Amino acid sequence: MPIRPSRRALLALAAAFGLAAAPAMAQQYPTRPVSMVVPFAAGGPTDTVARLLAEAMGRELGQTVVVENVGGAGGTIGAQRVAQARPDGYTILLHHIGMATIPTLYRRLGYDPVNGFETIGLVTEVPMTLVARKDFPADTLQDAVALIRREGEKLNYANAGIGAASHLCGILLMKAVDKAMTTVPFRGTGPAMQELMAGRVDLMCDQTTNTTQQIAAGSIKVLAVTTPERVPALPNVPTTAEAGLPDLQVTIWHGLYAPRGTPAPVIERLSRALQVALRDEKVVSRFADLGTAPVAQEQATPEAHRRFWQADIAKWRPVIQAAGQYAD
Ligand code: ASP
Repeated sequence: MPIRPSRRALLALAAAFGLAAAPAMAQQYPTRPVSMVVPFAAGGPTDTVARLLAEAMGRELGQTVVVENVGGAGGTIGAQRVAQARPDGYTILLHHIGMATIPTLYRRLGYDPVNGFETIGLVTEVPMTLVARKDFPADTLQDAVALIRREGEKLNYANAGIGAASHLCGILLMKAVDKAMTTVPFRGTGPAMQELMAGRVDLMCDQTTNTTQQIAAGSIKVLAVTTPERVPALPNVPTTAEAGLPDLQVTIWHGLYAPRGTPAPVIERLSRALQVALRDEKVVSRFADLGTAPVAQEQATPEAHRRFWQADIAKWRPVIQAAGQYAD
């Protein structure tokens, strides 16, 4: 006579199997393409880093990593998409310093900008450049400062919305010269660069990953780099400190995130793939052409990334509060 297991026994079995199945699934990860969300438009600096990284990580993971541009609202729309995605490793986020400024800039958000994420590892540190349309009537930062003080809101400053790196740099610039310009937000600095090259906006601050080629081609004018030292890819460009604005210093960092609750083995797998990608010859040489470099391997870990991120939130909080610029 067949033995019929009770409903309770079946449920207990299913639960036990489910528990065992979760780590097993994590061991096999990834079995399908991974989506890497970039919270800015295609063609910009975050997108450029993401595409190089996605290709190299995809090779290592044995699956395609597809870059998905979800721009708007200074990077918060894309970040929200990832914070609310299934925590299964198939949706990850490449974001920049905005992850450290958004928790202070936005007092109301539809997601938790800190606890909504697991960290995977840091990726790069990228200098910024202060750039202008090619016929901007100032050739040096000193002359540009005098012009901004004179013209103020008659000048247009392009950025990628509140929370973008270009926004942070703009806050520092306007505070340093003690004058506001008219801000023109875009879904990313890729489209903003098109407007700058067309001469329809005056100034922008953007990462070297989006400006070195245009500077070399003479399609835009560069006034300064925002790092303490000059940038090897732009050896003739003075630093903001050399040009008289020592308080305008910002270096952009990028990190990879997954939704909170993504299993630890999946995070480890992604972190290892990131570390391999950052040693990839093509990634290293393209980064160098674009004025940047991968972080040291020990920085491309979940723990180092979280520590760095927390410290950066604390670093920018008083600066943003002093500027009194909030998104709401
Ligand atoms: N990096 C840009 C910014 O934050 C946005 C982008 O990547 O398009 O200003």
